[in-house]
Amino acid sequence: MSTLTISGLRASVAGREILRGVDLEVRSGEVHAVMGPNGAGKSTLSHVLMGHPGYTVLGGSVSIDGEELLTMPTWRRAQAGLFLAPQDPVEVPGVSIADVLAAALVAAGRLAESERDVLEERLASEAETIGLSPAILARALNVDASGGEKKRIETLQLAVLAPRFAVLDELDSGLDVDALREVSRRVERATTAGGEDALGVLAITHYRRLLDELHPDAVHVLVKGEIVASGGPELADELERTGYASYGRPEEQLAPVGPDPFGGLFG
Ligand code: ADP
Ligand code: MG
Repeated sequence: MSTLTISGLRASVAGREILRGVDLEVRSGEVHAVMGPNGAGKSTLSHVLMGHPGYTVLGGSVSIDGEELLTMPTWRRAQAGLFLAPQDPVEVPGVSIADVLAAALVAAGRLAESERDVLEERLASEAETIGLSPAILARALNVDASGGEKKRIETLQLAVLAPRFAVLDELDSGLDVDALREVSRRVERATTAGGEDALGVLAITHYRRLLDELHPDAVHVLVKGEIVASGGPELADELERTGYASYGRPEEQLAPVGPDPFGGLFG
């Protein structure tokens, strides 16, 4: 049993504070959803967790079983068991999926150089499970892949790397209903298989439809860089009906700061 603990996490990008004190705790086998409007800081949270160099941590802590991740380079966070399926997966010309996964597994001491054929068999069978054409496996990572294929490729990497915690940033975007079901089933299988060491998930999404498939244990609402509400799956239903308006007015509607030009005349 492991625990991913995020506490008081504050971060800025391009000189603007985006995350303003985020607290979350995810245990092995749990699925936590993070929902929120555009620009709330959801992707920023995912990048900061994984150590993207473009984001500046201003305070707080991110740990797995008490081991601080924020001081680690990205590759060490991965070896500590953290995985990110980014909202916009990058294309890597000249490097196949098998190359990437072999490098990761060999570096972690989980695969011998000579076992590459074992990995390729595993990839082929996983690709079939999630409805990914085997031809993709021979191509360069994400190059000329459709949006939906990229999300399946992320899921394939998740399945093979078997991390302790996965951050899934809008894994549902670009997937049709059938693809969404295949991908969700594979993720859900990882969260139930392995008993004590089952995968813990932080699923970032706009829509309830991913959660209908992934069955979250908890739903959190992120607005302007802060968790403003947490609850059970019913919170996602409520958001679908009411939107995020009740959690605060958009910034542009806030009263201007400064002296009242009417000297209090209007109240
Ligand atoms: P979400 O994923 O919730 O839609 P993001 O985390 O992508 O939101 O963005 C939060 C805010 O941070 C937005 O105002 C966005 O413009 C800004 N932001 C995110 N990344 C960058 C970046 N690399 N450079 C400048 N601004 C950024
Ligand atoms: Mg985003």
